[in-house]
Amino acid sequence: MKKTRIAPTPSGYLHAGNAFNFLLTDRLAKATGTKLVLRIDDLDAERTRQEYLEDIFLSLDWLGIAVDEGPSGVEDFRANWSQHHRLERYASSVDELCGKGALYPCVCSRQHFERFTRETHTCRSGHGGVTTGSTPWRFRIPEPCRVEVQQLDGTNEQVDLAASLPDPIIVQRGSGRPAYQIASLSDDLDMGITWIIRGADLLASTAFQLHLAQLLDRPAFGAVLFHHHPLLADAQGRKLSKSAGASSLKAIREAVGSPDRLIADAEVYAEALVRRLVL
Ligand SMILES: [Zn+2]
Repeated sequence: MKKTRIAPTPSGYLHAGNAFNFLLTDRLAKATGTKLVLRIDDLDAERTRQEYLEDIFLSLDWLGIAVDEGPSGVEDFRANWSQHHRLERYASSVDELCGKGALYPCVCSRQHFERFTRETHTCRSGHGGVTTGSTPWRFRIPEPCRVEVQQLDGTNEQVDLAASLPDPIIVQRGSGRPAYQIASLSDDLDMGITWIIRGADLLASTAFQLHLAQLLDRPAFGAVLFHHHPLLADAQGRKLSKSAGASSLKAIREAVGSPDRLIADAEVYAEALVRRLVL
């Protein structure tokens, strides 16, 4: 069965770029008989707010997107669908990575870490041992590490992982919470997702998750097809962010009222993509 998802994060108000991604995913799902899932990635409890969760449901309603599986509203989400109900699943993946010696504790501040190269970052040669609960753990990206991302149009994108990402944090500082990468991969596998549409800024992240899945011996993720779409920019050409600015869906709903323009833009792109699909 073909299955895809839209996976917003409730850490700010959704913006026009999120709408583009959701509409594109919805239109491709409809065109290919794919089951559409709503998954809300709320792992970051400190940044999750009630109004952001409400904004997700309001925005999907406003855009006319009805999902086949997922929470019906904020209460249902908190009770049954939150990522916090699946922390044990994520922890078992982290343990597995740890057991394979793929992680190392990194005591550097963010600023310190950014100044190091892989060769000068001394934490990297460690293998764990005694650490305090507040130490973050990073994934040691091997060099070279080329990852092939299979795409929805039948082509492949080659990603040089070591050149694209610094060693990612897998266990967060302080909270000990697993990183987004682990939760997203684990959920996509558990939900049986077969294709995913993401913004172009997540290509390296996709490649990293493919590498993780291989290491964790989860071949199903290697069969997932991807499409990374260009990011929408604001009038000044800057990447949209989850703020309450003019490009937020909340502001567009209040000022313009109708989502017709957003829908038209996404449908033009979706139609061109549908013609190239290998699904
Ligand atoms: Zn370090």
